[in-house]
Amino acid sequence: MSMDRRKFLNLSGLGITSFTISGFIPTIHNQIEVAPIVAATWDAGLAANLAAWKVLGAGGKALDAVEKGVMVTEDEMNCCVGLNGNPDRDGHVTLDASIMDHEFNCGSVAFLERIKHPIAVARRVMEKTPHVMLVGEGAQQFAVAEGFTLEPDQLSDDAKRSYEGWLKKSEYKPVINIERKKALSQLDPSLMAPHKLSNGEWNHDTIGMVALDRFGNLSGSCTTSGAGFKMRGRVGDSPVIGAGLYVDNEVGAVVATGQGEDVIRVAGSSAVVEQMRQGKSPSEACKFVVERIRRIKKEKAKDIQICFIAINKKGEVGAFALHKGFNYAVHTNDGNKLIESSSLD
Ligand code: ASP
Repeated sequence: MSMDRRKFLNLSGLGITSFTISGFIPTIHNQIEVAPIVAATWDAGLAANLAAWKVLGAGGKALDAVEKGVMVTEDEMNCCVGLNGNPDRDGHVTLDASIMDHEFNCGSVAFLERIKHPIAVARRVMEKTPHVMLVGEGAQQFAVAEGFTLEPDQLSDDAKRSYEGWLKKSEYKPVINIERKKALSQLDPSLMAPHKLSNGEWNHDTIGMVALDRFGNLSGSCTTSGAGFKMRGRVGDSPVIGAGLYVDNEVGAVVATGQGEDVIRVAGSSAVVEQMRQGKSPSEACKFVVERIRRIKKEKAKDIQICFIAINKKGEVGAFALHKGFNYAVHTNDGNKLIESSSLD
């Protein structure tokens, strides 16, 4: 049975009364139609949401929305996402991305070089291979076989400037993004590439996106160039299903940004979903896991940032961060807005 046919039958089981033949656009009883919503990390999420909303607002699927949405950021002059991002300590940009749909299908790529849209490759991994994750050369080989262009191995002007700044000290420890005013004064701005829509203090970020479509289905995506000036081969949380991203269509969808190692340690996004399953609201669930990370990190929690955004099956969105300064963008039928996240400080 074809996928479309199966979905048709499933939807009829939910009380859908009629279909237009062209494109199987469903006509749905008012009581079961869901108002779509999409949320994405940071201020870059505003532009990403607009692309996602083109899909969702036209009655499209959450999976398509979260892929199209974050592709916008992958194309931007952004310090921390896509091929314009900061390189590793050897001067190469390496990308991590993952995507997950409402049926536990998921795909990811890690340590991928010279491919403009890792999120689209992650989706191909999900849809065209029996695997969940491809890394490095193998991921690149797969991408090229799938028709993706191999881009030149070169840095954007911003990334080159940042990398040259970093090389002056070549500190082993990746400098973490901290948006707190106190910490900003301690950071050397020459080490930072300007974030497209921010103030220029950024070192790493992830565009993470979660969405609910009119069919009531959830999906999520995330994509990043990871920690700037990381060790070659370092992979963060973003391509690790359950850590940087998790979707359970009965409960909710969650994405993370911040210090990837500490998100992996607690299977962060999956942990947030489990808290929502126990009845917590999206922001309470995010807070619970952020608190767990603070307990684990003890004193060192002051040196890292961790942020989650979550959406539940009812279309409620929430977020929580370890420290001040995290914001996220939410697009509903009422428009697109940037929201300041609550945090532990
Ligand atoms: N979580 C990403 C990583 O560790 C970076 C970030 O979101 O700031 O690779």
